Amino acid sequence: THDIHIIGGGLAGSEAAWQLAEAGFKVRLSEMRGSGEKTPAHHTDGLAELVCSNSFRSDDATSNAVGLIHQEMRTMGSLIMREGDIHKVPAGSALAVDRDGFSEGVTRAIEGHANINVVRERVDTIPDGPVIIATGPLTAAPLAASIGAATGADALAFFDAIAPIVHFDSIDMDTAWFQSRWNKGEGKDYINCAMNQEQYLAFHAGLIEGEKTEFKEWEKDTPYFEGCMPIEVAASRGVDTLRYGPMKPVGLDDPVTGRWPYAVVQLRQDNASGTLWNIVGFQTKLKHAEQVRLFRTIPGLENAEFARLGGLHRNTFIRSPELLDPTLRLKSMPNVRFAGQITGCEGYIESAAIGLIAGRFAAAELRGETLAPPPVATALGALLHHITGAAVADTYQPMNVNFGLFPPIPGRTKKADRKKMYTDRARDALGEWLAA
Ligand code: FAD
Repeated sequence: THDIHIIGGGLAGSEAAWQLAEAGFKVRLSEMRGSGEKTPAHHTDGLAELVCSNSFRSDDATSNAVGLIHQEMRTMGSLIMREGDIHKVPAGSALAVDRDGFSEGVTRAIEGHANINVVRERVDTIPDGPVIIATGPLTAAPLAASIGAATGADALAFFDAIAPIVHFDSIDMDTAWFQSRWNKGEGKDYINCAMNQEQYLAFHAGLIEGEKTEFKEWEKDTPYFEGCMPIEVAASRGVDTLRYGPMKPVGLDDPVTGRWPYAVVQLRQDNASGTLWNIVGFQTKLKHAEQVRLFRTIPGLENAEFARLGGLHRNTFIRSPELLDPTLRLKSMPNVRFAGQITGCEGYIESAAIGLIAGRFAAAELRGETLAPPPVATALGALLHHITGAAVADTYQPMNVNFGLFPPIPGRTKKADRKKMYTDRARDALGEWLAA
């Protein structure tokens, strides 16, 4: 017997389960991986597996909205943040984690909790009673169909892409060098590969001409999420687009010339031992053989061995602004809450944050209370508000947390001061809400 059923043991489902269990409620957590089922992106049976990058992005809580939501989650006893902090790897001012250690830590905590029963099973229909659906962008097809039926077949889809990972010992460190942009953080958290103009133009042409994985007929009208656009799509927008994006050379000094190169390829540490590095911003739908050929033209990566190549995947989410109430309940079936990326938030941390608040809403309801949503001046409140109503339903697309979702600071302020004003205001607002 359980008080609530959570479907999906990813970032959101694990966090929601933790919040409910810590509040004293019995949770059944259904996760299909481990029962012989797979998704197109997960590789393990671990809970909260990170399917692509190992970064939780900025950890700066005074001038960045993601850093701020990290801090808010820590204040609220987040398991995802606890394990993220424990399994941190160097990444400048960002919080990046050892993906295996992190997932193992979350799995241990969840499986070891007396109030949580992890059941390895695929759920195909929406159960009766209190339930949180946290099945993510790769929700299994039968449940997606049930959700479609319950929501008026309004499940949407778009594309995300994943970046390749390189083995460190295959990188030529006589050519590549350690440095973080503007020497931030430890100053050497990234590996950089410089390109001159000729190399860059040849590489750009290779991206445009390279053979891509073809879209299936039904996929053709599916749009990309701007934040995770395949590199060849960005390249097709203009010859210099990449030099202003992932291949931006500013703040990086080529040890050979002592100057900023024409363009740069950056790799970020992907595991604690530093044996794996992912190529930042190089998510792609180039065919695998084409990726190997083209990425080995990058100076320093001539002999690169790839632990994983880039790929493309579909992303399922519902029209939350129209379908959900302010506490993430499906208006037409109030026993059902949604959490995580399926609500149309975007990102590991955003998914976990929405899982956290879904767990807290559900716990309050089980106690016979109602929990007011966190104030919109907080990062969590701003993101939740966007998902549950502020966004335009017709053009709804997955959203990262950002200051654009916050209520503006009244009066005229200098741009430089504004971020600190947002974060100061958020801290006060969260404190008051938690106290109430
Ligand atoms: P998930 O973490 O995917 O968890 C959902 C869980 O539900 C899975 O474990 C799945 O096995 C399970 N499940 C699905 N259907 C069923 C069912 N019917 N019954 C039982 N269990 C089920 N975000 C970033 O911040 N950075 C990135 O680099 C990044 N890259 C991404 C790359 C890919 C390929 C994908 C798909 C997404 C990426 N995202 C990224 C987006 C997003 O942050 C992640 O998808 C994140 O894991 C979403 O968290 P979630 O808890 O909502 O879903």
